[in-house]
Amino acid sequence: MIDDYKFPPDYLETEQTRKLREGLGEELWQKLEKLEMIKTCKIIGCNNKIIARGLCGKHYERWRSGIPLNKHTRWDKNEIIIENSRAKIILYNLCGNEVNFTIIDTKNINLIKNRKWCLTHHNYVASGTGKHKVYLHRLIIGHIPQGKEIDHIDGNPLNNLESNLRLVIHSQNMKNQKMRKNTSSKYKGVSWDKERKKWQAYIGSNNKKLNLGRFDSEKNAALAYDKASMKYFGNFGKPNFAV
Ligand SMILES: [Zn+2]
Repeated sequence: MIDDYKFPPDYLETEQTRKLREGLGEELWQKLEKLEMIKTCKIIGCNNKIIARGLCGKHYERWRSGIPLNKHTRWDKNEIIIENSRAKIILYNLCGNEVNFTIIDTKNINLIKNRKWCLTHHNYVASGTGKHKVYLHRLIIGHIPQGKEIDHIDGNPLNNLESNLRLVIHSQNMKNQKMRKNTSSKYKGVSWDKERKKWQAYIGSNNKKLNLGRFDSEKNAALAYDKASMKYFGNFGKPNFAV
């Protein structure tokens, strides 16, 4: 398939390159490409080194995968939209489609602009992989004292405004966890008791599950959780209903 190489339909060529190619003739041009005599990628604005077919590694992979060459991919930096004191960083999936965005303070743009950011499985914003992985919120806060962690106050890891980040001790942050996926209720701290056919409210604290009672109404069970959350976790809790 790759041997049937033709210029991709959305191939973007600089005027200069086009003239050069026309001047040399297609046959000679392709020979030169094979010999890697033409050193920079054919795509407009891309000065990367050619690896194959006159394209750099990034654009070659993109072409091979059938992704339009002018589309955003994971190799491109994020688009940043500045709205006064806030900046939106657009996040993309592996196919280059926009999937979400994160908000930061405009004053922090210089900290983050030279990296490529993506969404992790847990909805955090990170850059790099393995031991080079950097989380956006950690980069913004900078130094994190030992035993401390960063907490997103509103529970949304995409809100990375400084006003939404605070340092907490590790156990406090655990209590701010989002709803678990394996509960059978839409509320936090509530699950369906199959045997008794009632809604069971519980709260987890220090690896122990504390039973808060069973309720006919799912909402009442959720309210019982909220009450216990306030008692045990105070402002670090995430109640089901706004107070
Ligand atoms: Zn390129």
